[in-house]
Amino acid sequence: MTWVITSLCREKLDMACVEVCPVDCIVQRTDGSSGEWPNQLYIDPEECISCGVCEPECPWEAIFEDEQVPEVFQEDIALNARVSEVRDDFEVPEKADSDSPTPDQVQANKEQWGYDG
Ligand code: SF4
Ligand code: SF4
Repeated sequence: MTWVITSLCREKLDMACVEVCPVDCIVQRTDGSSGEWPNQLYIDPEECISCGVCEPECPWEAIFEDEQVPEVFQEDIALNARVSEVRDDFEVPEKADSDSPTPDQVQANKEQWGYDG
């Protein structure tokens, strides 16, 4: 079991999850988004200890246990998993302060992905 960051994180990058991960396994591409790698954070499944503390910290509700990832985000499981294969292209990002989204913003982000959770 591991945890997965889904597309709900794209272009959000508030880094709230990075603050709490005890093993620094939440990472970002060193060269930003490119090709198959959209601009979001990812969890390296080989480093994740499945503690779950990141999930409640995510204001965009983008993090799921792999077995609980909604159908619409299933492809994100493989994308996160591939980070382990190319880990040198990723780094733990700088922590950042940002305002929390409103409930309406969180809902709108879900709707743009066709997720009604
Ligand atoms: S589940 Fe724990 S170890 Fe895994 S990414 Fe979240 S905070 Fe880090
Ligand atoms: S807290 Fe959530 S939205 Fe923010 S960077 Fe982490 S996964 Fe992305």
